[in-house]
Amino acid sequence: MAGHKLEWDTPMYRLAVGQLDRTAAMMNLDENIWERLRTPQRALVVSFPFRRDDYASVDTVFGYRVQHLLTMGPTKGGTRFDADLDLGEVTALAIWMTWKCAIMGLPYGGAKGGVRIDPHGLSRTELQRITRRYTSEIIEMIGPDRDIPGPDLGTDEQVMAWMMDTYSQQVGHAVPGVVTGKPIEIGGSLGRRESTGRGVVTCAMEACRHLGLSFDGSRVVVQGYGQVGGTAARLAAALGAKVVAVSDVKGGIHDPNGLDLRKVDAWVREHKLLEGFPGTDAVTNAEILELPCDILIPAAIQNQITGDNADRLQCRLLVEGANGPTDLAADDILRERGVFTVPDIVANAGGVTVSYFEWVQDAQQFFWTEEEVNQKLITIMQRAFRDVLAISVGRKIDMRNAALIRGLSRVAEAKRLRGVFP
Ligand code: NAD
Repeated sequence: MAGHKLEWDTPMYRLAVGQLDRTAAMMNLDENIWERLRTPQRALVVSFPFRRDDYASVDTVFGYRVQHLLTMGPTKGGTRFDADLDLGEVTALAIWMTWKCAIMGLPYGGAKGGVRIDPHGLSRTELQRITRRYTSEIIEMIGPDRDIPGPDLGTDEQVMAWMMDTYSQQVGHAVPGVVTGKPIEIGGSLGRRESTGRGVVTCAMEACRHLGLSFDGSRVVVQGYGQVGGTAARLAAALGAKVVAVSDVKGGIHDPNGLDLRKVDAWVREHKLLEGFPGTDAVTNAEILELPCDILIPAAIQNQITGDNADRLQCRLLVEGANGPTDLAADDILRERGVFTVPDIVANAGGVTVSYFEWVQDAQQFFWTEEEVNQKLITIMQRAFRDVLAISVGRKIDMRNAALIRGLSRVAEAKRLRGVFP
């Protein structure tokens, strides 16, 4: 493979593989298995026509579905609609899904998919058309026993409903288990929407306990006030923390005395953006990361904490809600500075965990209460956090390497047991 450029070789892919390489070297991972895990097992790129509502133009758009690891069971991973999406980003996200599922003990390998389009400019009918066409383009790859998409950036419950309907129309009967993150009415799970944010806060509380910090009264900063960041902020506030700053795509708001999130939510309902929320200071998405706080939760997009700004972070604890927010250079700086990091592959794995619950409930046709979902989620998150922490403390390594050792060991053992065909 040396000397040949891989189709998915982009900065984000290099980050995912760079993390893998560091840990694999540290744990003396079998080189054959290591090499297998550096690339996706299946990657589909499609291009298809997309007609705008005005009938004036037909655009050609690209869609992707990547399955990183088929060893553990069906594959699982979200669906991202983004103007800059490429095969490298989808591949990196699929690799991270593999580790998340293994760390949480879920019977899946990692996958990811999406469409290279800006969903914000689309009408509802355009979004539906593109979702249905994309689903039919990847239909051979997905299914409740094969590969189960969920939502991610730029997609939501309605998009999952259209994907489920498109698949079900093709096979001739309703198949709720083909996607997760669906509306409750068609087989979704209670607690799914809040699950990632709930997992982030569970990890933050566990980390505080380990570090001897009080979560109650701690100052929290959240970059990205969406499904993950918004839920994490609201839950943290409900549990006694002081949320001092939050942001969205346009920038953030800061009040060192703590934000009243009910008022913030009412403002966002009316104005869509946080911008202009009274009684607070405006901050940019770069500045928000450097505010004085105890707990920093990046919950927007990748590549936010880098070698350029890591030495200016003022938090004691970094809990990664987003996927890939921290690069390798920043990891080194933060470790040296004693900032405790709960990596994305642990911190945001609450989403895939409740997606797994949704898939199980769809298969059983027996649905759990919200309390059951939340309690099972918290139990699994705490167990995973403590397992990873034990490796981190025992081997005197950071939590990202410890988490990867946990995930890689499970995957490597499964690969070894299954052997090589033929
Ligand atoms: P979302 O669309 O609900 O929210 C994203 C937030 O980030 C919004 O407030 C948005 O305004 C802001 N944002 C968007 N682009 C930005 C930019 N360029 N700079 C700064 N802020 C920006 O998305 P989400 O579901 O909350 O996902 C957020 C992150 O969490 C993503 O990295 C996603 O992959 C990851 N994640 C989500 C889930 C889940 O269950 N939703 C699970 C695991 C990981």
